[in-house]
Amino acid sequence: MTFEERATRADDGVDELLDDASRRAWTADMTVRPFGDAYLVSCEEGTQFVSLTESDCSCDEEGVCIHRRRVAIEINRGRVPPPEARTVDCQGCDREVAASVAGEPPFLCPDCDLAPGDIVVDAQGSPDTPLLVISSPGRPSDVVTVPDDGCTVAEYPGNDDQPPDAPVVECVYPQAVSTERAPRRYVFPVTRLVDPDEADDKVTAGSGGE
Ligand SMILES: [Zn+2]
Ligand SMILES: [Zn+2]
Repeated sequence: MTFEERATRADDGVDELLDDASRRAWTADMTVRPFGDAYLVSCEEGTQFVSLTESDCSCDEEGVCIHRRRVAIEINRGRVPPPEARTVDCQGCDREVAASVAGEPPFLCPDCDLAPGDIVVDAQGSPDTPLLVISSPGRPSDVVTVPDDGCTVAEYPGNDDQPPDAPVVECVYPQAVSTERAPRRYVFPVTRLVDPDEADDKVTAGSGGE
């Protein structure tokens, strides 16, 4: 089955509502991918860069070209997100997060996100001391107060290099957990916690250069 047949078949009925130009755009063999604030439309002739916010397509065709039509249809059908709803800034790095993934705050890209059960290390501590994450990333560092202290996580010594709005996660040191008392919980800006493998890499790279 060709792509045209599949596309038409999947949207039987809806397809009849399209005018001829739109139907051609919809049934043409093209793939549409979000790209930054725009879209990439790939077809046999190559890949075009389509910006709906600037009503622009790299094919330079007069009027509304087939690529822009295709992007508009894909958005209308929910197959790609609309430009304004597509991305938000990750609160842990300068990457952008797909809005469909972000849903509700905190907005974190897959690399920055942590979940209960994850093992991490403190980027400012020993790379050999694992920390067990016990909460999902929550409120920003500058509104969470450090237990038994009174200052916010953002103000806490050692956190000055972290973004003040980095979401906070709770951790315990699994090596210090005993059955006799509840483990002490520590709060960290998510940006200060790294994958143990990455920490190893850094240590290796550092010692290798000496
Ligand atoms: Zn075009
Ligand atoms: Zn990130």
